[in-house]
Amino acid sequence: MGTLKDAVVVVTGAGRGIGRAIAEELGREGARVVVNYSKSKEAAEDLVGWLRENGSPEAVAIQGDVSHAPQAGKLIEETISHFGRIDVLVNNAGINIDRSLKNLSTEDWDKVIQVDLNSYFYTVKAALPHFMQQKSGKIINISSVIGQMGNFGQANYAAAKAGIIGFTKTAALELARSNVTVNAVCPGFIATEMFQAIPEKAKEAILARIPLGRAGTPQEVARAVRYLIVDGDYITGESLNINGGLYLQ
Ligand code: NAD
Repeated sequence: MGTLKDAVVVVTGAGRGIGRAIAEELGREGARVVVNYSKSKEAAEDLVGWLRENGSPEAVAIQGDVSHAPQAGKLIEETISHFGRIDVLVNNAGINIDRSLKNLSTEDWDKVIQVDLNSYFYTVKAALPHFMQQKSGKIINISSVIGQMGNFGQANYAAAKAGIIGFTKTAALELARSNVTVNAVCPGFIATEMFQAIPEKAKEAILARIPLGRAGTPQEVARAVRYLIVDGDYITGESLNINGGLYLQ
């Protein structure tokens, strides 16, 4: 893609954490950023304010629960009616409901699959005709190291995140002829609210397993996303691991 200047970028679940860092990283270089949020209107508007002052004067916030197919479709349609195109889709929205299998209800399973996997299909499906018509586009799906290695108490999350990797490879194959690349980014443990919510003892145990000895930062993930978008024209169907070496042993 070469440059982010004026590129229309949709980031789902961008109000905080990794999504916010991605929006900032891309907006800073002139992308026209669509900040999607589900409930946290204030955080999204705060981010839009920051973006407008820092390189993305046309940034907008668009509400939509992407786990609801019609709302995911509306997010893409509103983007098109506002900017006339979409250049980059970053699927980032995610939740976790952690319980061991013994305690995991079907509702807990369904909810996480719905947000963490199905929503990625909904947004891609809605953006597809636009990418194909433009004959260009970049899709980045935020997966997780947990989708690669599994984790105690995270069967639903691990299944969704592993599903994203298979989905990414298939979408990459199908969209290559339209000059659209599709890649996954697999963060390890990143210091966001999701990570801070882990009980202290469990957090210590996690840190002890990371060869680089620390959690990653949202900015480190955001820079990897930027790399795939700006310099990754010949990279598709890949999973880029940003995990401090966590999954080496
Ligand atoms: P976070 O909880 O801080 O942010 C997630 C955002 O998604 C929130 O703003 C939330 O409101 C939004 N969201 C949730 N459901 C939504 C929906 N249905 N529609 C629209 N928005 C919705 O989490 P984070 O740590 O920033 O994680 C971002 C992504 O990175 C997630 O996909 C997560 O699974 C993944 N990830 C995080 C880590 C980590 O250690 N933090 C590691 C690997 C992968």
